[in-house]
Amino acid sequence: MMFGGIEAGGTKFVCAVGDEKGNIAERIQIPTTVPEETIGKVIAFFKKYQLDAIGIGSFGPIDVNRESPTYGYIKSTPKVAWRDFPFVEAMKEAFSLPIGFNTDVNAAALGEVTRGAAKGLDSCLYITVGTGIGAGAVVQGKLLQGLTHPEMGHILVRRHPNDTYQGKCPYHRDCLEGLASGPAIEERWGDKGIHLADRVEVWEMEGFYLAQALMQYIIILSPKKIILGGGVMNQKTVFSSIFKYLPELVNQYVVLPDLSDYIVSPGLRNDAGITGALLLAQQALQEEKKVRLG
Ligand code: ADP
Ligand code: ZN
Repeated sequence: MMFGGIEAGGTKFVCAVGDEKGNIAERIQIPTTVPEETIGKVIAFFKKYQLDAIGIGSFGPIDVNRESPTYGYIKSTPKVAWRDFPFVEAMKEAFSLPIGFNTDVNAAALGEVTRGAAKGLDSCLYITVGTGIGAGAVVQGKLLQGLTHPEMGHILVRRHPNDTYQGKCPYHRDCLEGLASGPAIEERWGDKGIHLADRVEVWEMEGFYLAQALMQYIIILSPKKIILGGGVMNQKTVFSSIFKYLPELVNQYVVLPDLSDYIVSPGLRNDAGITGALLLAQQALQEEKKVRLG
């Protein structure tokens, strides 16, 4: 079996071809420009192979509701050229194969629970702290989805007493993403996160916000493992700050495992998303077989 995976991000697409064991035969990176150009290159790459299914983990918001007339579309993204782009339709037209479609972070959660830091567990939460903040979750062995996909980056948090920054979320201003994403850090402190490594107060505040978010995710979803990825989490002192604040917040109401084993970096490092996309392809093929067999 050969599968195609697409990790569709706001700056780049990663495409890979791999087998059911997760061995990757070839991968490429394509810059995210406009759909015609980027998708054209994606299709050209996959056409070299005889694929059985394709899986997409996409930036969003996206329409994942199969009953919806716009299922498989990218929705109200700030990336205007991609707004209302029928992603699944475009791939179906080119390949007439089963197409799996979910968020980039749900794909990463699937990757991590199957082959990464949450392997062997039936639940995990995958959070990315990068240009935006987003999270995907596996609950009782299945990707979390309801009315639509979760948007956990946009929860409300209490302000740090020293924080006067207005917030960067175009929708909610000072939601979690508005206060703790990479661009929020950059605007608040006047420099890119990578150049702020020795500013203790930056990462202390970052952990203050992320710990609040984690407390809420833990209380609502009770994940067996929490995985924190994305560019900002390269600053390892954020973990220390989370480990300081989270126990104070939870206050022993929920008994948590050893935090350094419970809240971790991705086991698959930068490959969580693309691994998950390949797994979404496998799932799509299995679902289609089930439908055919009735
Ligand atoms: P994206 O979210 O676009 O997929 P990233 O996860 O790399 O990409 O997130 C990019 C954001 O993370 C930027 O705001 C960038 O400034 C920040 N970032 C990237 N690397 C680091 C680092 N080493 N330390 C702190 N912040 C970083
Ligand atoms: Zn928001």
